[in-house]
Amino acid sequence: MKTDRKILEIKNLHTYYGSIHALKGINLEVYEGELVTLIGSNGAGKSTTLGSITGIVPASQGTITFEGTDITKMKPSDITKLGIGVSPEGREVFGGLSVEENLKIGAYTRKDPKEIANSFEEVYELFPRLAERKKQSAGTLSGGEQQMLAVGRAMMSRPKLLLLDEPSMGLAPNLVDLIFELILKINQRGTTILLIEQNANMALQIADRGYVLETGRVTMTDNARTLQANDNVRKAYLGSA
Ligand code: ATP
Repeated sequence: MKTDRKILEIKNLHTYYGSIHALKGINLEVYEGELVTLIGSNGAGKSTTLGSITGIVPASQGTITFEGTDITKMKPSDITKLGIGVSPEGREVFGGLSVEENLKIGAYTRKDPKEIANSFEEVYELFPRLAERKKQSAGTLSGGEQQMLAVGRAMMSRPKLLLLDEPSMGLAPNLVDLIFELILKINQRGTTILLIEQNANMALQIADRGYVLETGRVTMTDNARTLQANDNVRKAYLGSA
């Protein structure tokens, strides 16, 4: 359910890699229950934004507030504990561990075995392919299956905010459709999502609102339907005039 409660607020965020000024004053908000997408070309700063939210690439200026708590300078592990789950770009599953073990790791911040069992059930219900491959080592899964596992693992922490970094990357077209369907389903079941995507077309189809990032700056933000219809967005990101 969408509410008017701000779950994430980024204000004037600047992030550097040495002398490279990757984020140049980003402002972004996510409300409880929303599915918000951040789109942009290669190198625009999408992953860096995610890295700054999770504390992996610390911000040098500006503030990031999660449910009223300033997380700008917090350690990644403390940010996870507050309820931010991440499915990183490039999947990054633990190849030597089984599907089940990977999912278990996702639940490491939780204690109640009954609730963890419920989450396992939910993930297996959403991703039957993972249920069929519980004991298979993650390294031998196909690319699409690894992507599902990365999303499933992030869900195992039962996050209040789920951050997804390019979940459709490198997937065959039928799997791209499936992964976006599942993302929408996860959102409709109540998880707030910030979705980072180069596939602007699909992302805007399922999102409530979108932000367009260009070389470290937000150049446009609006509801997803309006962005989809915008000429500049169509030319630059949707491959049509
Ligand atoms: P892509 O869609 O290609 O993943 P992106 O929008 O996620 O791109 P970022 O990865 O956030 O873009 O990169 C933003 C800028 O920061 C780029 O100019 C990139 O070269 C630079 N950058 C990213 N990571 C590093 C790093 N570890 N060291 C130095 N510069 C970096």
